[in-house]
Amino acid sequence: MTQKSCLFCKIVKREIAAKTVYEDERVFAFEDIKPEAPVHILVIPKRHIEKISDLRDNDVELTGHLILAAKKIAEDKGIANSGYRIVMNCNRDAGQEVFHMHIHLLGGRKLTWPPG
Ligand code: AMP
Ligand code: ZN
Repeated sequence: MTQKSCLFCKIVKREIAAKTVYEDERVFAFEDIKPEAPVHILVIPKRHIEKISDLRDNDVELTGHLILAAKKIAEDKGIANSGYRIVMNCNRDAGQEVFHMHIHLLGGRKLTWPPG
């Protein structure tokens, strides 16, 4: 299912250009346009899901698949040993700006904690 006006659905359909780093039948990953770290990749489900709170009980496999895709990309990018972070923002207080659920995969530098 896609949503016509959704930016990330358009990226999946290649109607808007992005630097693709990974794709399989359910997952798409591309470089963030405004990177906050040397590696900053967005990992998204191809299906339009607005946010974490819209996940259904039967999305358990898809959710695991997304995290495993992020893990594989981290290995491909050579940041698995140095370390990385995955972040998912849900709704306004978390700063979600694009309402197509996504994992931020961040690494390639020392990341601070706690987050702001
Ligand atoms: P969030 O604030 O969690 O919703 O994150 C949205 C992310 O999407 C931000 O890090 C943006 O830099 C990124 N972004 C917005 N538009 C694009 C685009 N056209 N291509 C790649 N990344 C984008
Ligand atoms: Zn979408």
